[in-house]
Amino acid sequence: MPSDAELLKAYLADRDVPCPGCGYSLKGCASTQCPECGSGIEITLRGNTTSAAHWIAGTIVISGAFGLALPTLLNSVAGMLFAPDYRLFPGPILCAPLTVGIAAMLWVWITRRVWLLRAPKVRAWMLTLLLGAISWALALTPFFVKG
Ligand SMILES: [Zn+2]
Repeated sequence: MPSDAELLKAYLADRDVPCPGCGYSLKGCASTQCPECGSGIEITLRGNTTSAAHWIAGTIVISGAFGLALPTLLNSVAGMLFAPDYRLFPGPILCAPLTVGIAAMLWVWITRRVWLLRAPKVRAWMLTLLLGAISWALALTPFFVKG
């Protein structure tokens, strides 16, 4: 059975593949290091069914929760300032951390996109459902807490 290094050499023999480190063409490279930048290279197996569906769904669901939490927070601030006897929601002391929490979840969701897209499908959807549910639980909390 050929070694990984032999497989890599055979793979690169007639393929114009760029180095992941520097972009230099590795065609004909017989080493496990890029001749241009010295980065180690190896041959691996990867699934071909990556889908962004869970990430797009999660972005919509968490954005929706933020879209509810932000006006709720503004309303709680306005209620505290202008109509303390008739306010709809608990004060900003509750609403502000909830809104910041959802914004933080959304920020992590977007900045960790590459990692989330590479996660195994079942785990990725479970994480999407979990974070989506948490974000909506946070956004709806002011509706169920007495002000
Ligand atoms: Zn390189």
